Amino acid sequence: MTNRELEELYKKYGALLEGHFLLSSGKHSKYYLQSAKILEHPEIGEKLGKELAKRIKNAGIEVDLVCSPALGGILAGYELARGLGVRFIFTERKDGEMTLRRGFEVKPGERVVICEDIITTGGSALEASREIEKRGGKVVAFSAIANRGLCPRVGGDISRSPQCKLPENIPFFALGDFQFEVYDPTECPLCKEGSTPIKPGSRPGKEV
Ligand code: ZN
Repeated sequence: MTNRELEELYKKYGALLEGHFLLSSGKHSKYYLQSAKILEHPEIGEKLGKELAKRIKNAGIEVDLVCSPALGGILAGYELARGLGVRFIFTERKDGEMTLRRGFEVKPGERVVICEDIITTGGSALEASREIEKRGGKVVAFSAIANRGLCPRVGGDISRSPQCKLPENIPFFALGDFQFEVYDPTECPLCKEGSTPIKPGSRPGKEV
């Protein structure tokens, strides 16, 4: 799957939104990725999981389980685990701390891939990886369906942004990159045109 094919899929399923968005970072953007819209379709999710699994296997990385930070990463991680033929667990926040609950276990030495739907700075993925390592697991890769373009991925040509939080010594796999500009509210050209940003998800976005 090429970057272009991934972008076409996002457009087809309304997962690449165009408008004027207020991101959780406080910045504004003309575009927003809503991977949940693609993962509404299990047959597409399965295909993407298989493709991601293929890239990790082809790199010679052996995996015992996949772990995703809830909520966004769960569907992507589940499909990746299916593709790799390994089990799947997820971390979730309790009182702000990323933790493993629900009886999920990591055995010492187990090789773990952390999976997200989208990696932006990789902050949640990093927190999940720390929880895995605290329990004796070994994080062998990070992965996501889409890369927002701040972190370098295996096979990609993006250089590392200072905002990227993923460790430099662990490979990161994604199916493609989505790079678009974000603006400080004071410098946002969309605000200057007089429109008001919305929080993504607060109403259906316009498909591009
Ligand atoms: Zn704006």
